[in-house]
Amino acid sequence: MIKNIGFCTKCGSENIVKNGHNVSGQQQYLCKDCKARRVLDSEKRYPKERKEEIIRAYFERTGLRGLERIFHVSRHTVTEWLKKNERKIACDRRNTYQSKE
Ligand SMILES: [Zn+2]
Repeated sequence: MIKNIGFCTKCGSENIVKNGHNVSGQQQYLCKDCKARRVLDSEKRYPKERKEEIIRAYFERTGLRGLERIFHVSRHTVTEWLKKNERKIACDRRNTYQSKE
């Protein structure tokens, strides 16, 4: 049983199955509804608002395991987001603290 692997980026269907790997070794999926065959990455699987919400929750000391339970998001995915957003987050947090003082 395959579950929680995301949804088709073309038609939005969750009726997708794993379908081999592309040349760079990324997992590809086949949509059973529209027959689209593509790579789903974490950026597309989670809308921007959702992602920001999860990152905010992380900084409320929810912890990666807590995030997994609450948002059903892989902690590896969150770790990747944090790495990519490190500078922006650091800047945002500084601004938040300043505005509180
Ligand atoms: Zn589709």
